[in-house]
Amino acid sequence: MKRRILPHHISKHLVSSQFAMAKNFLKETRDRYDVIVIGSGLAGMTSANVLAKAGYSVLLLEHHYQLGGMATWFKRKGGHIFDISLHGFPHGMVKSCRKYWTPEIAESIVQLKGIRFENPQFSLQTTFDRKDFTRIITEQFKVPYETVDDFFATARKMNFFDDQETTTRELFEKFFPGRSDVVRLLMEPITYANGSTLEDPAITYGIVFSNFMSKGVFTFQGGTDALVNKMKAELIKNGVDLRIRALVEQIEVGPDRSVKAVHVNGKRIECGAILSNANIKSTIQKLVGPDHFDKEFMEEANAVRLNNSSCQVYIGLKPGEGFDNCGDLLFHSEHDGFDIEAMLSKEISSRTFSFYYPETRPGSDRWLVVSSTNARFEDWVNLSDEQYAKDKEDLCQSTLDCLEKYVPDIRQKLDWIEASTPKTFKHYTRHVEGASFGTKFEGLKVSQSLPEQIGGLFHAGSVGIIMSGWLGAVNYGVIVSNELDKYLTPSEATI
Ligand SMILES: Cc1cc2nc3c(=O)[nH]c(=O)nc-3n(C[C@H](O)[C@H](O)[C@H](O)COP(=O)(O)OP(=O)(O)OC[C@H]3O[C@@H](n4cnc5c(N)ncnc54)[C@H](O)[C@@H]3O)c2cc1C
Repeated sequence: MKRRILPHHISKHLVSSQFAMAKNFLKETRDRYDVIVIGSGLAGMTSANVLAKAGYSVLLLEHHYQLGGMATWFKRKGGHIFDISLHGFPHGMVKSCRKYWTPEIAESIVQLKGIRFENPQFSLQTTFDRKDFTRIITEQFKVPYETVDDFFATARKMNFFDDQETTTRELFEKFFPGRSDVVRLLMEPITYANGSTLEDPAITYGIVFSNFMSKGVFTFQGGTDALVNKMKAELIKNGVDLRIRALVEQIEVGPDRSVKAVHVNGKRIECGAILSNANIKSTIQKLVGPDHFDKEFMEEANAVRLNNSSCQVYIGLKPGEGFDNCGDLLFHSEHDGFDIEAMLSKEISSRTFSFYYPETRPGSDRWLVVSSTNARFEDWVNLSDEQYAKDKEDLCQSTLDCLEKYVPDIRQKLDWIEASTPKTFKHYTRHVEGASFGTKFEGLKVSQSLPEQIGGLFHAGSVGIIMSGWLGAVNYGVIVSNELDKYLTPSEATI
């Protein structure tokens, strides 16, 4: 078994930054583009694609050597390919990919039917849709059908313009008072999916939960590498000028408070508009800088709370070694009830396992497991190098101990194991505190009102809970591109 416990990204980064210095990644860029997109997350790539198709000249700048942002993958010795955030998204991705990407991409989206829960309160498997959840909550949890039906209808009707005061806790209290088992079933997967808690506005829960419940949980067959490479081909076909290893240092704002240019790898490139896919807080606080905003707006932006970060453990089995069907997504917990503090704690009692079978990448002979836990940046950032390495090793070992319950001989079959932490996510995506799912709800208003502060400056990317996740990011990219289109050509906006 090969094991990586030292921060691989640091040594790799040293080599890659020397390489970056040697090569000019901005060779032959134009002096000016209609639009510059900062960041190639799903929102950034989707925006670049629709804006290029609408006829704009688009430059897409990504600091990492790979496109995708959180929607990414990495390869390890022995032929392992690990996906970071390909665990499941709602069916709405099919329509969004067909409309804003290609039919071919949409056609590779397939359902994951084995969603499992194993915890002290219940053990069950579901297809994670309204019909099956209704069956479970009525038959297994003995809640009257009318209550369950009313709950689903209420959640389905929720939208952005509704009351934002009611919390998710109050929503559950109304429908399922005293039923911590039902709350756990309804909430735990959503907390894993976007970091939301019982104190967040109920509309954020209702919108995201209903998106999943419409048809279940879906994945991209072929893996994130296949998806992002197809997206890259499409971007190039549509004329987007794509540059990796291109770190935007500054967004230049003119005296008239509109965007003029970006400064990237020490070079100034002019533009008519900018769409930042970087973290909303760093876009405002660092790339533009506080001096360019109204005082009240700056206070509002500073007050935006980040969502939590994550830890993951990537486990590769020896070629050809597998396991009995464990389901696709397994929400494992040893904790008594749904408890957000316990889910964020470094003393891990809850994990989500994603089981990847060879069909994930047809033709492959690999079984892989990725374990994800919600995590706090502050628990990982101030450790000495030795302690950090030790804590990662402990995380790997405790994850294997837990996994042994489902794959009894995992240690014999193991070929590769390594862990990532909030520091890893920060390093690769530059999200403040390694936030996995952007910001809490209030971040959405700040993101949306950015162009009112600075002409031609737009933001699209994980924000406000409802605009995060694969589907949220893609759709928000389109919504914001539409606004950007209206800004550049008010009379003939087309998107
Ligand atoms: C562990 C984990 C598991 C997840 N699981 C799921 C899941 O199962 N289903 C789901 O739907 N979602 C999941 N998500 C969330 C989902 O991956 C994200 O919400 C989504 O991919 C974010 O897309 P985005 O457009 O906001 O951009 P991001 O992915 O945040 O990308 C932003 C990009 O901007 C680049 N950038 C930042 N600053 C600069 C700069 N100054 N110059 C140049 N480039 C810059 C970054 O390098 C990055 O590529 C998961 C996330 C994590 C971390």
